[in-house]
Amino acid sequence: MNKKIVVLGGGISGLTTAYLLHKEGFDVTVLEKKNEVGGSMESVFEKGYLFDRGPNSGLETTPLIGQLVKELRLEDQFCYSNKEGNIRYILRNNQLHPLPMNPASFLKTNLFSWPAKLRLLLEPLVGKSNDGYYQSVAEFVKRRLGNEFLDYAINPFVAGVYAGNPEELSVKSAFPKLYALEEKYGGLIIGTIKSIKERKKRAEKSKQSAKMFSFINGMQTLPKALAEALNDKIITSAEVTSVSKKDTGYTLTYNHEGSTKGINCDVLLSTIPAYVAAEIFKNWDENLIKHFSQIYYPPVVVLYLGYDKNSIKQPLDGFGFLIPIKEKKSFLGAIWSSVIFPNRTIKGNATFTLFIGGARNPEVGNIDKEILFKKVLGEFEGLMGITEKPVYQSYRYWPKSIPQYNIGYIEHEKYFDEFEKKNPGIILGGNYRGGISVGDCIKSSENLANKIKSL
Ligand SMILES: Cc1cc2nc3c(=O)[nH]c(=O)nc-3n(C[C@H](O)[C@H](O)[C@H](O)COP(=O)(O)OP(=O)(O)OC[C@H]3O[C@@H](n4cnc5c(N)ncnc54)[C@H](O)[C@@H]3O)c2cc1C
Repeated sequence: MNKKIVVLGGGISGLTTAYLLHKEGFDVTVLEKKNEVGGSMESVFEKGYLFDRGPNSGLETTPLIGQLVKELRLEDQFCYSNKEGNIRYILRNNQLHPLPMNPASFLKTNLFSWPAKLRLLLEPLVGKSNDGYYQSVAEFVKRRLGNEFLDYAINPFVAGVYAGNPEELSVKSAFPKLYALEEKYGGLIIGTIKSIKERKKRAEKSKQSAKMFSFINGMQTLPKALAEALNDKIITSAEVTSVSKKDTGYTLTYNHEGSTKGINCDVLLSTIPAYVAAEIFKNWDENLIKHFSQIYYPPVVVLYLGYDKNSIKQPLDGFGFLIPIKEKKSFLGAIWSSVIFPNRTIKGNATFTLFIGGARNPEVGNIDKEILFKKVLGEFEGLMGITEKPVYQSYRYWPKSIPQYNIGYIEHEKYFDEFEKKNPGIILGGNYRGGISVGDCIKSSENLANKIKSL
């Protein structure tokens, strides 16, 4: 109980773990580089618009989210998406098609051809594959569900979740539950039916059935409230630069308000991105640095747009739309932000969050923003039937956005496990382990806290 714990990084992973430990009386300090907490969760109010520059929402996949909301007294801030949030569109032949969510709408949809629909029905007859760690999401989906389902459902879905490419992501590391359906039950359709029953028993929600949530003042509300509960246990504007081993425990060096400081600890939890960890641990071992450095974080531009509602012909009745690579557009998709959550815009307007770049188009960072946005706006306004220019525009460039759990990711996972065993008291966490979504990061934090408690 009296061990000193230091957490690197004040994103949702670091803060949730620190909060769970602090609540039980453990001695925890969080070091965060920026002058505010949240990491990727950034919510900005400007001229009456609320722009979530990182995650726009989370999925309530673990009861811990509800528990945190209650304990942090955020009930009046917490909100679920409007019912429109359940309708998601996919672009095909320059038209937005609702993604079918039940067998009847699947049979009626024009999103998939008849041969593709029939191919999908053959899924239960497809045999199992070999080791999924070295199998891409694309190979897996093509084999089980066919080419068209890959192109018009999975390709845009993967762009929406990971800003990634299905040809590069490992099915087992990036979508472990999907892979497990084949491994455990022999197929996706039969596996989905059986796993729903099992999940009900564990009071867990699947990503398909979990409710989409946010906060009236944006996603950053949660890390800010966690930080408030941690109070003086957080040091912001504290950039950790190195870690060294002592006879017992570890010493961290960090820059804080112009001076270099040190802090000792028995347990060190790192939740900073892998490419930063590569710098901080650079005097440790070559292999560790190699594994950290090989994890790819593609660049993403998030563009936020406000329009007069009267200038939009497209009915605003959904979550937004995703674009398959085959449609050859210069952005990945758009969330209809003000449709699904309150408080995102001023009266009479509608706001949209567009995602550009990702692993599909990594050169986005090198393109002049004015030229890029002109092209993207032209395409977006054309698809939405928008006749006037935006009344509000803002953007956030993420040079390294989301870690890609690419083929062979198991090698990184195995090495990190080995490293932790060889260096008792060091724990590697954050979104490059255990899932990238906000829900997964929160779920993983509970495991991290339990791991630390058991040391
Ligand atoms: C553009 C974008 C959109 C996304 N959309 C969604 C979405 O809609 N839904 C969803 O569920 N997920 C989404 N995600 C993913 C999700 O937001 C992240 O995976 C999650 O928030 C990561 O949390 P984390 O705490 O693990 O890491 P981070 O949020 O990256 O936190 C790491 C922290 O470490 C700090 N740090 C870095 N270097 C140092 C240092 N040297 N010393 C001290 N501190 C340091 C950073 O400042 C940061 O605060 C999105 C991510 C991005 C980038």
